[in-house]
Amino acid sequence: MHPTTKAIRIQTERTNEMEHATPMFLTSSFCFDNAEDMRAAFADETDDNIYSRFSNPNVQEFTDKICALEGAEAAFATASGMSAVFASFMALLKQGDHLLACNSIFGSTHTIITKYLPKYGIEYSYVSADKPGEWAAAIKPNTKMIYIETPTNPGLDLVDLEMVGRLAKEHNLILNVDNCFATPVIQTPIQYGADLVVHSATKWIDGQGRVLGGVIAGRKDLIKDIYLFCRSTGPSLSPFNAWVLSKSLETLDVRMERHSNNAFYLAEKLENHPKISWLKYPFLPSHPQYAIARKQMQSGGGIVCFELAGGLDSGRKFLDALKMLSLTANLGDTRSIASHPASTTHAKLTEAERQAVNITPGLIRISVGLEHRDDVLNDILQALELC
Ligand SMILES: *Cc1c(COP(=O)(O)O)cnc(C)c1O
Repeated sequence: MHPTTKAIRIQTERTNEMEHATPMFLTSSFCFDNAEDMRAAFADETDDNIYSRFSNPNVQEFTDKICALEGAEAAFATASGMSAVFASFMALLKQGDHLLACNSIFGSTHTIITKYLPKYGIEYSYVSADKPGEWAAAIKPNTKMIYIETPTNPGLDLVDLEMVGRLAKEHNLILNVDNCFATPVIQTPIQYGADLVVHSATKWIDGQGRVLGGVIAGRKDLIKDIYLFCRSTGPSLSPFNAWVLSKSLETLDVRMERHSNNAFYLAEKLENHPKISWLKYPFLPSHPQYAIARKQMQSGGGIVCFELAGGLDSGRKFLDALKMLSLTANLGDTRSIASHPASTTHAKLTEAERQAVNITPGLIRISVGLEHRDDVLNDILQALELC
């Protein structure tokens, strides 16, 4: 079966009720018939469920589907994207190790790397996502892991997965890829040598802005270490959220196709608008890394970003002028969302700090939803008139 079929057909074994949809297993623990069965489960001699911090049928169904989509050997699901990122660092890095990351990464990931990892003696350095020449020189004798996002948030820079996959193999490093923006129906980093893929399932995987979730998928031996770390420290995904996310995976492929089509349409229509100084979308030939996008992505994804010629002030006016698009912190929803990082998520940074992570004053990020494409376009066009 194709991965997209597996994402629909993989299912927890039917109970005696012969239900068609998977029931929710909202239970914190599981029973044993006798002392011997219980002993064997605790001794890891069977894979019976013990306690939902370790495993749960709904969570298992979700991770089985993620493995099918990402082409991964194993996976562990977490309560949020950030707990997935954190667990992938803490389970595999130790004092004295060095982490190499691309410079434009999700804000909270940046905080973990710069504020918390150093407390445990783990060093880091950053390289530019879009400057492949810098990567090899940045590897140190104690480098253990390369961590990247592609496309990056919010700048939509790309990292050449083939290049970085080869580099990681040559230096025997763990390649860890945040695949949140592309999703596994658009891009499968493991195919290029990634050892781990992490996700915020909160975004496109949920796709409807309902629940938080995260997942780490990849090499069996590494996932085993991550599982053991999480089993003891407790960032596990709730069975309810896993049920929601597993259902969402059944429609991920069709949703991403529509998100991408809508986003491409919007990008083409807005690219030469007089109020916009530049616009970025991976599948537009004007994207500086268009060739890489075509090589490693099936479509351009659902995010479009552009710079308002009027800068910071125009950004605020643009948000106020929107009538339909939502102003909210999430992305990857059925409903289109606009955000202006310089006045919101990155407002506390100095101008120089914002420049360093490519947050320009008039940068607008659109998470393109599933509404009719002309309704999204028209709302943006009328808002552009007013800013
Ligand atoms: C949102 C996001 C995260 C964090 O995920 P949460 O589910 O909010 O914890 C990590 N990486 C990227 C790229 C994101 O967009």
